[in-house]
Amino acid sequence: MTDKNSSYLTETITKLMEIEYDFSGEISRLAGENENYLIKKDDGTCFVLKLADDNTTAGMIEIEHLAVDQLINAKLPIRLPRVILTRTGSVQARLMTKDRKEIRGRLLEFVKGKAWCQALPATNELLENLGTIIAQMNMDMSFIVHPDSKRTHHWDLARADQHRSKIYLIDSLEKRQILEWVFHLYAAIVRPLFESLPKSLIHGDINDDNVLVSDERVVGILDFGDCLTNPTVCDLAIALAYHTLDEDNPLEAAATIIGAYHKIRPLSIDEMMAIFPLMCARLAVSVIISAQRKKIDPTMENWFVSEKRAWKKLEVLSTTGPAQAAIILASKTNLEPFENRGASVTELLKNRQRLIAPSVSPSYDKPLKFLKGKGQYLYDYNGRPFLDLYNNVCHVGHCHPKVVQAGQKQMARLNTNTRYLYDGLTQYAQKLCDTLPRELDTCFFVNSGSEANELALRIARVYTHQKDMLVVENAFHGHTSSMIDISPYKFMGQGGKGEPEPWVHVVPVPDGYRGKFKGRGEDTGKAYGNEVGEILKNIPKPIAGFITESLLSCGGQVIPPHGYFKTAFKHVRDAGGLCIADEIQAGFGRVGSHFWAFELQSVVPDIVVMGKPIGNGHPMSAVVTRKEIADSFANGMEFFATFGGNPVSCAIGMAVLDVIKDEGLQGHAKQVGARMLEGLNGLKNKHDIIGDVRGIGLFIGIELIKDKSTLAPATRKAAEMVNRLKNRGILLGTDGPFNNVIKIKPPMVITKEDADMFIRVFDDALSNMKNAG
Ligand code: PMP
Repeated sequence: MTDKNSSYLTETITKLMEIEYDFSGEISRLAGENENYLIKKDDGTCFVLKLADDNTTAGMIEIEHLAVDQLINAKLPIRLPRVILTRTGSVQARLMTKDRKEIRGRLLEFVKGKAWCQALPATNELLENLGTIIAQMNMDMSFIVHPDSKRTHHWDLARADQHRSKIYLIDSLEKRQILEWVFHLYAAIVRPLFESLPKSLIHGDINDDNVLVSDERVVGILDFGDCLTNPTVCDLAIALAYHTLDEDNPLEAAATIIGAYHKIRPLSIDEMMAIFPLMCARLAVSVIISAQRKKIDPTMENWFVSEKRAWKKLEVLSTTGPAQAAIILASKTNLEPFENRGASVTELLKNRQRLIAPSVSPSYDKPLKFLKGKGQYLYDYNGRPFLDLYNNVCHVGHCHPKVVQAGQKQMARLNTNTRYLYDGLTQYAQKLCDTLPRELDTCFFVNSGSEANELALRIARVYTHQKDMLVVENAFHGHTSSMIDISPYKFMGQGGKGEPEPWVHVVPVPDGYRGKFKGRGEDTGKAYGNEVGEILKNIPKPIAGFITESLLSCGGQVIPPHGYFKTAFKHVRDAGGLCIADEIQAGFGRVGSHFWAFELQSVVPDIVVMGKPIGNGHPMSAVVTRKEIADSFANGMEFFATFGGNPVSCAIGMAVLDVIKDEGLQGHAKQVGARMLEGLNGLKNKHDIIGDVRGIGLFIGIELIKDKSTLAPATRKAAEMVNRLKNRGILLGTDGPFNNVIKIKPPMVITKEDADMFIRVFDDALSNMKNAG
C-alpha cells in the first residue's frame, strides 16, 4: 500500500468510526488475509474493525453476530468478539466515500490474549480443554438457524475437492503426489460418508491464530467470519489440522483433543472415520490457496503464514494409513473404527500357500487384501482406498445398495430353481431381451462366463450338426476343458498345448495397430473379415460356428475395425456356422453409445453370451439366442443347471438392469470414457512410450512400446506402471499377447474427476519412470 493510499484509508476509517460509533482512535492493520483494523482509543481500550469485501452479505454478518451472541448467552468460559452496534443500533456500519464507494464494516470488541501458535508447546491439559471448548461451541451453535448459513467459500471443507484440479499449481512432483493422495482419501472416504454426517452451523476456521490461551486454558476464540453450515465434525478436523502442526506426534495430540470433545459431543463412527482425511484436506486446501496466491502476489507474507508448517505436516501424515490413523485418533474414545480386520496380509499369504491350489495366483508384487468396496473404490487392510479402474464385474459400483438389497430380500424369501415357476425368471428374461435386437428372444441362464460359452458351443453344434469352430487369435472364452480348447490365449500361452485341436481354426486378431492388415484405413475391417473367408476355404467341412468377443479384451483391448464383423459373419454364415458374440467383458452399456458392443458394427449375432457384469459380482450368466435355434437344442435331452436362473439371481440381474437405466450409466460411460480417451491421447503426444490409445466408452487400452518404428512391446514397463499406479492408489492390469497393454474397464460409476486424476497421476508416473530410467 502506498503512503497516499494508507492515509486515505485511515481518513476514511476515522470518518466511518466517528459517524457510526461516535469515537475513533489510532488505526493499524491486523495480520491475516482479511481487512481487519485495530482501533485503539486514547484510554487504551481496543476494538477491531472488520471491513467487508464485496462478497460479504448482510446475512453473513448477521450469522456471525448470532453465533457470537449465542455462545455468550450459553456462558462458555471464553472471551468472544462481541459485536458493538452502531449508534443507530445496527450490526453493520456504512460510509459513502468521496469517490462514491460504499465502505461497510462491523466493530468488534478486541479480545486480548496470546494466540495458541505463540504459546507452544501445548500441554495435555490445554489440548483437552480445546476439545471441550470446540464440542461446547458445536453443541451451542447447532441451535442457530439462518437462511444464509448454507453459504460456501473457498475454505469450505465440505467442498475441499473444488481445489483438486489446481494440484498442477504445485511445482514439486513429490508434493503433487501428496496432494493427490489427500484428495483421493477425501473422495473415497469423506464423500461416500457425507450424507450420514450430522450438519450444523460451525465456526469454520478454528486455526491456531484464532484460539487464545492463558494458563493452560483456552480463553478466547476469534474470527467468526467463516461461519457456515457444514458437517459438524469439520470444525474439529480444522482445529486438529492446525493445533497439531507443531506436535512431534500429531495424531496422538489430536487423539487427546478428540477424547475430550467426544465426552461432551459424542462422535459417530462415520464422523470418526472422516476426521483424518478432513484434517489432511484442510492442510491441502491451505497449501493450494497459498500457491494460488503466490502467483498473484508473492510479497503478501500474511497470506502464507502456515504454508511451510502445513507442508511439513502433510509429509508426515501422508505416510500414515487411514486405518492406522483412525485407530490412533479414536484411542481416547469408546469407538472402534475397525472391528475385525482378520488375518494380516503375510499370514493370509501363508494360509493360501497351504490350502489353495498354487495355480490360483494373487495379483501384484505385493498382493492386496481388501476389507470393503463401495462405488468405484476398494479399501484395503490399512483402510487405504484404491480407485478401481480394472474390475468390470462390479459394473454399477462395488456393493451397490440396490443390488445388495434385491439379493438379500429374495434370499430371505425364496430360492429354488427352474423346475418350479416364479415370476422373477420370465420377468428378468423379458427385461434382458428388451435390451437386444428383436430376433434375440430366448434365454438360458447359467452361472459363469465359461459355463455360458460352453453352452453356446453346445447349442451351435446341436443346431448345425457340426463340430469345428473358428476362434480369434489371443482370445479367451473360459476355463473349462472345451473353453481352453477354443482359447488361443490359453492353449498357445504358458502351460498350453501350443497348437489348436484339429477342430479349432484360428483367425487373426483384427488389430488395426500392429496386425497383418494394419494401416489399411477404412478397408482394414473388411480385409480382416475377408481373411476369415480365406481360412474357411481351407476347412474341408462346414463349421459349427465362430466365437468372438465384440471387443477383444484379453487379446489387448483391441477394437475391431469397422466392417469387420459384417464381412466375417457373412463368410461364417455362408459356411453354415453360427456367429457367437461373447459380450462377457464388453456388454451392458460399457461402450456408451450402445448397450451391446456388437451393435457398434450394426450386426446381429446368432447367440449372445453374457457374464461378469450381469450380476454385479453375483455368479450368474446368460445365453440369449433366436427361438428357432433354442428349439433345435430341445432335442430330447433336458437342460438343467441347478443354480442357473434361480430366483435370487433373477432379482439381482433385474436390479443391475434397473440401476444401469435409473442412474444413466450408459450415457455416463460415454462421457467419462471420452474424457479419459482425450486425456490419454494428450499423454500419447507427450510420452513416446505410449504407442497406441484405443477404446470406446469405458473399455480402453493403452499400449506401451519401446520403439515407434518396430512397435517392440514395453512389457516390463507396462508391469512396472501397473505397480506404480497401485502404489498411488489406482488399480489397473495388463494384457494382450505381449502383456504390454494397460487395461481400463472400471465400474461404470467412475466420475470425470476420477478420470482427470488418473490422467494426472499416469502422466506423473510415466515421467517418473522415464527419469528413473
Ligand atoms: N469370456 C471372456 C471374454 C472372459 O473375459 C471370461 C473371464 N475372464 C470368460 C469368458 C469366462 O468367464 P468366467 O470366469 O465367469 O467363467
